[in-house]
Amino acid sequence: MVYTSTSSPDTRDYTYELNIAHLYGDLMNTYGDYGNILMLKYIGEKLGAKVTADIVSLGDSFDKDHYDIALFGGGQDYEQSIVSKDLPLKKEALDAFIQENKVVVAICGGFQLLGQYYIQANGVKIDGVGVMGHYTLNQTDNRYIGDIKIYNEDFDEIYYGFENHQGRTFLADDQKPLGKVLYGIGNNDEHDGEGVQYKNVYGSYFHGPILSRNTNLAYRLVVTALKNRYGQDIQLASYEDILSLERPEEYEDMKRKVDKN
Ligand code: GLN
Repeated sequence: MVYTSTSSPDTRDYTYELNIAHLYGDLMNTYGDYGNILMLKYIGEKLGAKVTADIVSLGDSFDKDHYDIALFGGGQDYEQSIVSKDLPLKKEALDAFIQENKVVVAICGGFQLLGQYYIQANGVKIDGVGVMGHYTLNQTDNRYIGDIKIYNEDFDEIYYGFENHQGRTFLADDQKPLGKVLYGIGNNDEHDGEGVQYKNVYGSYFHGPILSRNTNLAYRLVVTALKNRYGQDIQLASYEDILSLERPEEYEDMKRKVDKN
């Protein structure tokens, strides 16, 4: 069964439609990851799209043609072990979804489970869905917890987040990180990369949630999803038009405080 968790009001005049799959949203949704859905919905509506988010969970098939964006949030090791057993059911569809350049946001535990495998804090290895090349090792009696800041060279953008994970993720040769760590740990303590950027898959350890704290990234994902569905030529409101801050100085002040810590 697929549960509809969020939907735009029916009464407005929408030009477009966007469907989001919140993968295992009832099990994997730590530290406010659901806020990513709210942010996608907020931007989608500003761009004229009716947005519906469904929880696609255990036993559900993932209809890759129906959905434009998939969000796979973080979770505890216990929930991850349950989800790991269900993932083969969705493997083929998820793989095709990614290869068709659809948008995926995968946070922490979800990011780990898109890869080959994840070793839990207790040393037990669980399978990822294996649609991407990265893998995640464990560590002994330690977690990476704290504010984190990265630089994405492709977009020339800085992203802020909060990480809380024990897993140490290593990327495959065909993958590149979402950004270079400016402070914090990121994927592991041996390399300076954080997250992954592969086709239109954005994997990250950032909670916070990532899209509410980094609205430039959120805007890009919604625009990508709309253009995938309605064509590259559609005219959409600019980032500045819909997301310019009413009090930018307060935002700058907040960033300065985070940078100092
Ligand atoms: N359980 C995983 C880990 O500790 C993922 C944590 C998370 O999603 N926040 O690494």
